[in-house]
Amino acid sequence: RVLVFGSINADTTLRVERIPLVGETVVAHDVQYASGGKGANQAYAAACTRPGVAVLMAGAIGDDARGAQMRDELAAAGVDVSLIREVDGPSGTALITVDADGGNVIVVAPGANHRWETRPEVPVTAGDVVVLQLELPLDIVEHVARTAHAAGARVVLNAAPATPGAERLLPLVDCLVVNEPEATALLAQVDVELPVLGARLDLDIVITRGADGASVLRRGDAEVRLPAFPAEAVDTVGAGDAFVGALAAALAAGDDLLAAARRGAAAGALTVSVAGARHPQLSGDLVDDRLNQ
Ligand code: ADP
Repeated sequence: RVLVFGSINADTTLRVERIPLVGETVVAHDVQYASGGKGANQAYAAACTRPGVAVLMAGAIGDDARGAQMRDELAAAGVDVSLIREVDGPSGTALITVDADGGNVIVVAPGANHRWETRPEVPVTAGDVVVLQLELPLDIVEHVARTAHAAGARVVLNAAPATPGAERLLPLVDCLVVNEPEATALLAQVDVELPVLGARLDLDIVITRGADGASVLRRGDAEVRLPAFPAEAVDTVGAGDAFVGALAAALAAGDDLLAAARRGAAAGALTVSVAGARHPQLSGDLVDDRLNQ
């Protein structure tokens, strides 16, 4: 099983000629609504790419229509949504404004994602793969990591977005996945090189490098470079989430780290080839096709 503990966000994207200045109003020529949140995107990718693996999503939505819609979409993709709580108030929301050059400004209102009155129960057993990111309060993420680690589950941490203090989670983690800026931010906090960190903490580390593929460092071994799969990049949003979800599902199915990272890279390449954070037809067969190309 894969248990994703994380964020669920409703994204609203406005396309404008240019980003307005303070006090100014501009007219957008397009508005798009989409379901996002790193946690939910990763659960989606896990469920789509490995249908034989049970995928559960734990997190919180608000008591609004978009919350219910986001939960229903995950359920339709095959994710078990019974651990998603509905809380009073709005769902997590991201307001994204994109200008004609593709530059963007983003405001995130965490909403339900930050409403945890008590520490959640973590229904994990040994053998589960627990997937975490940093869009929930850090002490909640730490609690889940600690509980999962103690239960003998495998903890995959996608340390995104870069968050001060996240380094304290690392002793509880089996596999760390970060993109290049996140790796730089984390290294600045721990003050050692990645292979040393991996060896010291007995930690697998995967660094995603966009169109340059990924690096895999198994428990402090030398870096193995995985090339990216060919893709015509339309929109790179969500590539990292697809990578993490597909990797986690592959680990849960028993693949070794390198094979799992290759499935992640294939899912990432598929996701950049479509607009939006989720590939609408993502499937195990599509990933297999990309792997065999
Ligand atoms: P993030 O979205 O977290 O910044 P990356 O941009 O590193 O993550 O993308 C995650 C993975 O998706 C990469 O390791 C790579 O395998 C794949 N990927 C990303 N961009 C491309 C691209 N332009 N072409 C092919 N694969 C890509």
